[in-house]
Amino acid sequence: MINSRSISDLSPRVASMAREFIAKCAADGIDVIITSTYRDAESQAALYAQGRTAPGKRVTNAKAGQSYHNYRCAFDFVPIVNGKAAWNDSALFERCGKIAESVGLEWAGRWTRFREAAHCQYTGGLTMAQLQAGEKIA
Ligand SMILES: [Zn+2]
Repeated sequence: MINSRSISDLSPRVASMAREFIAKCAADGIDVIITSTYRDAESQAALYAQGRTAPGKRVTNAKAGQSYHNYRCAFDFVPIVNGKAAWNDSALFERCGKIAESVGLEWAGRWTRFREAAHCQYTGGLTMAQLQAGEKIA
């Protein structure tokens, strides 16, 4: 079961965007850590089960193979303030989200459905169906 936090487990193009994102946040005085990059199908299935058939809170609406994390094109982050993850600092997430967008990432804090301030992705214009069919980001 793989639930990676390593940027090198992302698709190369997304990995370079993630590195640029972290560097630009740092230049702006914001320390961010990456909490999740690539997840395999088994790990996604376990997350989906959480709050449904397994204990805990629901954390995702994506089943195995339905998350962009499963295709190495999404990562989650959290800003760190005074050594602590600032999960509830929406203004800080907003600043990070704008930086993510400035390097070409899609920031899920803008989404109206399944809004997720910690999630960034880059799909290179590929749809979920194309990714599921095995197409790779150029
Ligand atoms: Zn995510």
